[in-house]
Amino acid sequence: MTIINFFRKVKDKISKTALASVLPSNFFYFSHKGFCPCCEHDVVFRSHNSWLRDNFLCSNCGSIPRERFLIIVLEKYYPEWRTFHIHESSPGDRGTSLKLKKECEHYVSSQYYPNEKFGSNVCGHRNEDLENQTFDNEVFDIVITQDVMEHVYNPEKAFKEISRTLKKNGAHIFTVPLVNKFKSSEVWATKGYDNRPFFQKTPEFHLNPVDSEGSPVTMHWGYDIVDFIKASSGMDTTIEYLNDLNFGIRAEFIEVLVSRKP
Ligand SMILES: [Zn+2]
Repeated sequence: MTIINFFRKVKDKISKTALASVLPSNFFYFSHKGFCPCCEHDVVFRSHNSWLRDNFLCSNCGSIPRERFLIIVLEKYYPEWRTFHIHESSPGDRGTSLKLKKECEHYVSSQYYPNEKFGSNVCGHRNEDLENQTFDNEVFDIVITQDVMEHVYNPEKAFKEISRTLKKNGAHIFTVPLVNKFKSSEVWATKGYDNRPFFQKTPEFHLNPVDSEGSPVTMHWGYDIVDFIKASSGMDTTIEYLNDLNFGIRAEFIEVLVSRKP
């Protein structure tokens, strides 16, 4: 019997006050039954950590809230996405990325390997620099990025490039933590010597599946990201928000952004 099951069993037999006295002070457990948009199963969403954004997992496919919400947004605006040409930059190995790879007829994923030839296939992905892509103009219906745009050194170029590769009426659908909310966006790091990050503020890295060092955070975005995207690429952006436990969607910085190419 796991410690969680043990506490669940005794929970009903002792008072909450008594329970609180035997649990570690940082104990957290939250679960909810619902439907997962990624694996399309009735599942249980569970978290053992109060930071639901990275820990509120689907019991079947392991997806996290922002991945599930991105699929909901994709289905809502582009229900025919399975027949589209979709480019995903820096995919993950679960949830949305796996679903897109499995179900979309013309899905291409790219990763950034700066020491390899751009445009070539490296480890099953096309090698691309989001700021200088080798794709032709107007080849994709949808570009997907999940928590990538806070790591690019020249976001102006990246948004412009994404727009260049999108067909007319195509869209960039993406998650990015809008940590600054109503505050202006801030540059967090610039490209320093030898492509190393030169931090303007406290150094910050996020996990990166293809780089053990992690990815440096280069931008702290706020809601003014929509003005930045308009100025860099001409695309109009809407910010989607959802708080719905039935889909296991409850988390800080849960927004999904949709930038449409006119
Ligand atoms: Zn799932």
